[in-house]
Order: sequence, then C-alpha cells, then structure tokens
Amino acid sequence: EIRVRFAPSPTGPLHIGGVRTALYNYLFARKMGGKMLLRIEDTDQNRFVPGAEAYIMDALRWAGIEIDEGQGTGGPHAPYRQSERREIYQREAQRLIDEGKAYYAFDTAEELDAMRQRLEAANAPAAQYNAITRMQMRNSLTLKPEEVKARMDAGDPYVIRLKTPRKEEVRLNDIIRGWVTVHSSAIDDKVLLKSDGLPTYHLANIVDDHLMGITHVIRGEEWLPSAPLHVLLYRYLGWEDTMPQFAHLPLLLKPEGNGKLSKRDADLGGFPIFPLQWTDPNTGQVARGFREDGYLPEATVNFLALLGWNPGTEQELFTMDELIASFDLAQVHKAGARFDIQKAQWFNHQYVKEQPDAVLAPTVQQQAQAAGYDCSLAKAEKIAALLKGRVNFAREIVDEATTIFNAPTHYDEAVTTAKWNADAVKAVTAFHDALVAYEGEFVADTIKHTLSDAVTQAGIKQGKIMQAMRLALTGSGAGPDLMLTMEIIGKDETVRRLEQALA
Ligand code: GLU
Repeated sequence: EIRVRFAPSPTGPLHIGGVRTALYNYLFARKMGGKMLLRIEDTDQNRFVPGAEAYIMDALRWAGIEIDEGQGTGGPHAPYRQSERREIYQREAQRLIDEGKAYYAFDTAEELDAMRQRLEAANAPAAQYNAITRMQMRNSLTLKPEEVKARMDAGDPYVIRLKTPRKEEVRLNDIIRGWVTVHSSAIDDKVLLKSDGLPTYHLANIVDDHLMGITHVIRGEEWLPSAPLHVLLYRYLGWEDTMPQFAHLPLLLKPEGNGKLSKRDADLGGFPIFPLQWTDPNTGQVARGFREDGYLPEATVNFLALLGWNPGTEQELFTMDELIASFDLAQVHKAGARFDIQKAQWFNHQYVKEQPDAVLAPTVQQQAQAAGYDCSLAKAEKIAALLKGRVNFAREIVDEATTIFNAPTHYDEAVTTAKWNADAVKAVTAFHDALVAYEGEFVADTIKHTLSDAVTQAGIKQGKIMQAMRLALTGSGAGPDLMLTMEIIGKDETVRRLEQALA
C-alpha cells in the first residue's frame, strides 16, 4: 500500500507552497489508491506558535485535501504529534548509541563556538563537527567511560550525535531529481537528540516515516540537502530495505522569477501567500489569505497543482478528481515554478463565472449594501448572473454594476456623436411609449419583444439604434446584456432613464 505524509511544523501559518506540497501528496495518494497522513512535527519548542496547528488543519480542509490518518483523524500509529512521541525517539537514539553508531557529546555552546572560530581561521570547508574534529571535542568517543558516566550522573547537559562515516558515498535516487550523490565528509555529525531530550527534525522524521510505514516522501526541495543524511540514518537504524522513495518538489519562485518565494514577499507584492488569513498571536499583525482575498478553493487548488507540474496537454482547468486522474509524480518539473499571481486571478475568474448565481448573491448583496445601494437578494442574484463572467472575484461584481444602480450622470461623447441621431430619438421614444403601455411581466424575454415590435413599427432597423438605446439607459456604448440589465433595473427605472435621455 502506498502511504504518504504531510509533515508540517507548527511554526506559523502554512505558506502557500506548503499547501502545494500537501496537495501533491494527496493527489499521489488518491491516484495510487493509497493513504494520506498528517503528522505534526513540533519538536522544536523554541519555534512553536500557538494556533498554527489548527490553522494548518483549517487550510487543508479549505483546500479539500482530505486526511486519511493522522493528527485530527487518528489511526493505528497515534499519537501523530511528535512532541507526544519522545520516548520512541529516545529509544531509537539509545539503540544507535548501543550499536556504536551515535555518541554522547557534552560540549558547551562556548566550546562549540571556539571550534567554529578555529575552523574559520583555518578556512575549513562547511562540515564542522565531523569524523575529524570530533576527536578534539568532549564526547563519549574521546572521554573515558568513567568520565562519561560521571558527567551523566551529575546531570551535565548532553546531546546525542550521529557518528557520520568519514569516507563514504551516500546515494539516493530521487523520483524527480534522479541520482543524488553526496560524500559523507560533507555531512556533519548531526545532533539527533537535543539536551532537552527532544529529537531533532532529522531523527524524528526518519523514525516516524519508518514506523508509520511511509512509502513515498514528497516534500519541498529545501529538504534535498538533508536527504543523504536521512539515507544514512535509515541505514544505521537498519531500515534500509523499507526506506521510502524520495520526491523533492521544485521551489516556488517570486513572481518576477528572481529567487525563492518567501514569507516576506507577502508585504512586498500586495498578494497573499498564505491560504487563509493569519493573525500573528504575538504581534497581532494580520497576513492576507487566499480565502479572504476571494479566491475559491477549487481555483486555488487548480492553480497550485500547475505550479511545477502539468499533464503535458493543453488542458488547464481541472477539478480535484481530474487532477487525481492525471497526476504523475514523475512528470513534476525540476526547475522552480514562478508564483504568477495574474495566473491565479485568471483561474479564479474561470471558477467564479461558473459559480451558481444563488451562491454569489449574498456577496453581491453585501457589497452593494456596503456601497450604499438598495439591493434585495433576488436582485443580487440577477446581477450575479449578468456580471459574473466579467470579474476575477465575486466582490468585484458590484463594481461592474454601477450602471445598474445609478442612472447615467453623463453620456459617452463619442457614442453620442456617432449614434444619437433622429432615428435613435424616434426609436427610444417608441420604445418608451410601448413600455408605458405595457402591463405584462417585465423580464428580458418580454422586454426584447416589446423593444423590437416598437422599433419595427416606427420603421427603424433595430441594429442601427441598439447602441443609442444602450447609451440612453446606461450612458455608455458597451456593457452586458441590455435586456437583462433592464429587467434588473425594473420597468419604472427603465422608463425614467429613457425619459432622462430624451429630455
Ligand atoms: N517538518 C518538516 C517541514 O516543516 C517536514 C519536512 C519533510 O517533509 O520531511 O517542512
């Protein structure tokens, strides 16, 4: 069985790139008939942010990403919050110690600093606490066993470090990136268990992926440099045979394509980079969200799915089910994907225009009322029908409806010059008189007949005066369906506007 996991750290709101990672995991799981897990990686207590976990779950729910097993859902491997699993990591770290694959280290922050300075002065390459330098430090490889025991009995703080081999090639075959080879001299003796008894990300992540039966690790490219270390850990823990396959997703790049999209870009570009609005519990600062900005979840998911993947066809619009059917991890791109906010808006446009009018109506009514217009729900629904094809966001519909709510205050000059002639006046007069006499239902269809009968009887070709008619009613020469516009305006106001134009 295919089992994947989304494993966020609750250090703040989920970045939109995190939603893409979750989405790719979900699409892959569904496509393969496998399971999608949610695990909360909260072992870094310094970076824990209250509310972040709930935010993550809300965001996934909003996006329609369903969790089969894990935090909030439960399952056979509970608990799914790493802070509640510390004994498990301690047990595995101890096993590595017992097998000589890890060691205790007692170095203080000052001692580590001094080592760093020595290395810098000597222009040493990046890996620091490693097979060479560990011999100069205070750890269970250099101290006598009695001394190690004495320190531990005395309660001296210590960490457990991985005993990284000195000269070994570490290889992994990433589904997206292909073969990645790293020499172990470039990997330092990573801390596995911290002095507070909590594991680091690396240990907890590998232990849990193993115990939870994860078959595919699908995550952001920023974790690729850690992957060789993870391979080493699988080997040392004796789990190499069931090691998951890795797939590292391409970076999301800034809209300009210059570098990685980061949380700071939210303020710069004036666009959201979080799925939902987030209020920072410490500063009270509010960061914008796709949801609150008026993006539909379906549009957001469609947009995100295509940031780094496409099925190789021209198709751009996909429902979640269609995404599941077409998704292929092997087709995910290596190159970074530019976060194109115009494209996101285009996607939203595609979905807003397909929304049922009744669904859009409350937003239209609310916005109309906020703008000081009188607007029933029924009217709002008709306005939605008329104008939803012209906007990117539901909230913009009312902006498009100014000529519905207001009689013209001026008439487009060019159109007036070109079209407002004797025939136009005759036609508008005829239509006006017909409307005054008309007593039937005032809907687009009947309006259309009344108009064409009146104009024909006046001996005028309808095609010649339609722009003038529109000018009389709205002040401009172009706009949405005129019959529906009149239906929404209502008979009295239509008549009044015709009179105003003729006056
Ligand atoms: N907790 C890590 C994160 O926040 C998970 C990385 C992984 O998927 O291995 O991104």
